[in-house]
Amino acid sequence: MSIPALFRQTVVSLEVFPPKPDAPVDMIHQTLVQLSHLKPDYMSVTYGAGGSRAGLTLEIAKEIPTLCGCPALGHLTCVGADKASIQQSLAQFQQAGVEAILALRGDVPAGRDAQTAFAHMPYASELVKEIVAYGGFSVAAACYPESHYQSDSQRDDLLYLKRKVDCGVDWLVSQLFFDNDAFFSFVDRARRIGIRVPITAGIMPVLNAKQILRMTTLCGASIPASLSRIIARYGEDPVSFAEAGMDFCCAQITDLLKGGVDGIHLYSMNRAKSATAILQRTGLRD
Ligand code: FAD
Repeated sequence: MSIPALFRQTVVSLEVFPPKPDAPVDMIHQTLVQLSHLKPDYMSVTYGAGGSRAGLTLEIAKEIPTLCGCPALGHLTCVGADKASIQQSLAQFQQAGVEAILALRGDVPAGRDAQTAFAHMPYASELVKEIVAYGGFSVAAACYPESHYQSDSQRDDLLYLKRKVDCGVDWLVSQLFFDNDAFFSFVDRARRIGIRVPITAGIMPVLNAKQILRMTTLCGASIPASLSRIIARYGEDPVSFAEAGMDFCCAQITDLLKGGVDGIHLYSMNRAKSATAILQRTGLRD
């Protein structure tokens, strides 16, 4: 079944990233096998900044149907890409049996400037058009409940999102967020301007205080008072922080499910143990 067809019920997806150059490639296989026990509806594989590790995205994505028994969603970015290179990547994904692509603009890699990085494809919407024209893929795109960090206004960001969806996006995967009110308000605004595709909630497990602070600074996600209290109280005590963070994450997901969210996309960070605990405690998996 194609991924878009799965959205008749709440879709549970997991995200993995290619291992660092010094890590054994076998490690990701073990992680995939452990995550497969959670029977995700699909698994996505991130794409390295600048495409430096693009080959690994493909290598991992092609293993997913066999190792995990679910479809793979390969991430692809506009960084340094032109029509020819995108067509080549799509041909490789197709040969590898990957049928779905998360079309992203990407960020400017260190040492490069935006003009050269995005010379041929300035926005993800251009990539969506290329994938749709190529044919044979379902297409996901990113969305930002609290707006993209570079956008001038919430309204502009939403209008650009609508334009991107209208290019042929089948479903949206959100940036991480911790404030469910912000997410539900974003979904309402999106629906009001005619964005009808499923919007799946990107959930980052709260396991490490420094990591949460670094990520929220990078992407601009707000920290609600309840999470702020956990950071203040347990920030210097990793074990207690991880326990309180797990409670926070499970409560966040439970509340999203009660609110009728289309899907939960867990940024599993290649950690099968915490992903398993989260999906089991929230009743999403046995
Ligand atoms: P776009 O949709 O192109 O938007 C980028 C900015 O441009 C926004 O501010 C938007 O408002 C604005 N904009 C859009 N269209 C126009 C227009 N026509 N005119 C003017 N402004 C416009 N990065 C990676 O490198 N690899 C990954 O694997 C990866 N995975 C991700 C997965 C998810 C679920 C998410 C949410 C993000 C991921 N990213 C990844 C990060 C992403 O590449 C960055 O957030 C990037 O800055 C924006 O990508 P985008 O596809 O949302 O861009």
